[in-house]
Amino acid sequence: MKSKPCLLILVLALAVAPAFAAPKPPNILFVFSDDHAIQAIGAYDTWLAPFCREHKVTPNIDRLASQGALFTRGFCGNSICSPSRATVLSGVHTHVSGVTHLGGGIREGVWTFPPALRKAGYQTALIGKWHMAHTPEGFDAFRILPGQGSYWNPAFIGSDGKRAQITGYATDVITKLSLDWLKQRDPSKPFLLMTHHKAPHRNFDPPVRYYRFLDDVTVPEPETLFDDYAGRGTAAREQKMEIGRDMTLSGDLKVLPPGKQPKSLSEADAAEWEATYGRRNDAFRAAALEGRELTRWKYQQYMKDYLRCVKAVDDSVGELLAYLDANGLADDTVVVYSSDQGFFLGEHGWFDKRWIYEESLHMPLVVRWPGTVKPGSRISKLVQNIDYAPTLAEIAGAATPDNLHGCSLVPLLRGEDPADWRKSLYYRYYDPGHSVNPHYGLRTETHTLAYFPRHDEWELYDLEKDPRELHNLAGESTQIPLFGSLKEELTHLREQFGDTRATAEPAPRRKKNPKNKSE
Ligand code: CA
Repeated sequence: MKSKPCLLILVLALAVAPAFAAPKPPNILFVFSDDHAIQAIGAYDTWLAPFCREHKVTPNIDRLASQGALFTRGFCGNSICSPSRATVLSGVHTHVSGVTHLGGGIREGVWTFPPALRKAGYQTALIGKWHMAHTPEGFDAFRILPGQGSYWNPAFIGSDGKRAQITGYATDVITKLSLDWLKQRDPSKPFLLMTHHKAPHRNFDPPVRYYRFLDDVTVPEPETLFDDYAGRGTAAREQKMEIGRDMTLSGDLKVLPPGKQPKSLSEADAAEWEATYGRRNDAFRAAALEGRELTRWKYQQYMKDYLRCVKAVDDSVGELLAYLDANGLADDTVVVYSSDQGFFLGEHGWFDKRWIYEESLHMPLVVRWPGTVKPGSRISKLVQNIDYAPTLAEIAGAATPDNLHGCSLVPLLRGEDPADWRKSLYYRYYDPGHSVNPHYGLRTETHTLAYFPRHDEWELYDLEKDPRELHNLAGESTQIPLFGSLKEELTHLREQFGDTRATAEPAPRRKKNPKNKSE
C-alpha cells in the first residue's frame, strides 16, 4: 500500500519527463550579405577597421561580435556568389555541389541543411538573395530576389510561385519581410530564418538616408592601391578588376550626365541625389582628373558607396536584434552574421573577389549563442564555408550525412580546442569573370599555395612575413622543402575531396523555376 504514492509520483514524473529531457532547440537567425569584406567590419583587426569603428560603419555587427564569437580565420572554398552559397547550404565543395560557376544550381540529390532542420521540427524561411538556378528547397516560406535582384523597388518570387515588386530599398525591404515573417510564425516551433541581403554587391547603390554619410571625410587608402604586380605570377597581370582601369564611371560610380538622376528614385529622393551625387559629378567633371588622381577619386567614391551599403546592412542586423530583444527571443536564438566571400577594397588596386588571396578568401563569421559562446570570443582555427551546414544542423539537432566535406564548429563555439583540427583548407576557382585565371590551392595557418594551370605557374606566400601577398616564394631555393611539402598536402586534399579532374564536371541542368531568371 505504501508504494502507491511513489508509483503515482513515478507515473507523473514519466508523463512530464519528455518536456525536460528534450528542451526546445534554439532558434537560428542567419543573416547573410553579399560581398561584405572583413576589412569593412569594425570588429575585425584589419587596416580599415579603425576607420570603420571611428565612423560607426558596423556598430550592430560589432556588438554581435562582442556578445558572441568572431572567427578570425574563416574562409570560402570558391570566392564567388553562387558557388559559396551552394557550399554554405550543402557542406561540400563546389565540384560536388555542382555550383562551380556563377548562377549554377545545386546538383540533384545533394543534401542541404534547411530540409534537415525542417524535418527536425523547425519552421524555416528564406528572404532575399538566392542567386542559384534551382528553386529553394526545405523552406516553409521563401521570398527570393530573381537573379542578382534590384537595389530599388525589387521584385521577389514567393514560395507560392507569385512574383511581386515591392517599393523601397532592397536591404530595408528584405529586413521588413524578415520581420513580417517572424511576427506571423508559429511560436510553438523553433525557427530558422535566413535573411540574405543583396548589398553591398556591385553596383554599390546606397539608401538615400546615407547619401551624405562619409561625405566630408577621406577613406584611408590601402598600401597596395597602386600595385604593379612585380613578384607575382602572370594571372595577376591578366585580370580586369582594377579600380583605375575597369571600374566604370556611369555603372559603378554614378557619374550620370548633368541633370540626370536614377529613374528608380521618387521625386524627393531624386532631389537628394542631385544635391549630393549631382553636385559631386559637376565637381568631378570640372576637375578633369587623370592617371593616379583619377584612380584615387574613383577609390574614394567606390569605398564611400560600399560603406554606405554596409551601414544599411548593419541597420538591418540592428533591427533584427531589436526584435529578438523586444520579444524575449534573444536568449533562445543563435544569431549568425556572414557574407558569401570577401572583397578587395582597393588592395592590389582591385575591387571584386575570385582569388585565393586573403581579401577575397576571407568570409566574415560572427556567431552569438547565449549560454554556449563566451561573449567576446575570438576563434582562430581554420574554418570554411563547408562547415556552416554541419554546424547549423548540429545546433538544431538535425541529422547530417557522413559524406560532408565540412565539420561542425560547435566544439569551437563551446570554447574547446580540438587537437586534431584541420591544418589546411582547399580552394578552387573556376569562373572566367573579370579575366581571373582559374586556379586551385590551399591555405594553412601561415601560408597560401596556389596553382594556375593556364600558365603552369605556382605561387607561394608567407602570410606571417608577407601578409599582403606581394612576394611569391614559389621559385626560391630556400623554400624548396616547404614548397614540396605544401604541394604534397595539396595533392592529399584533392584526393581527400575527390577533386582530381583537370576541369569540373558540370552539374546536369535541373528544372528551373521559370520566374527565377537572372536580371
Ligand atoms: Ca558575393
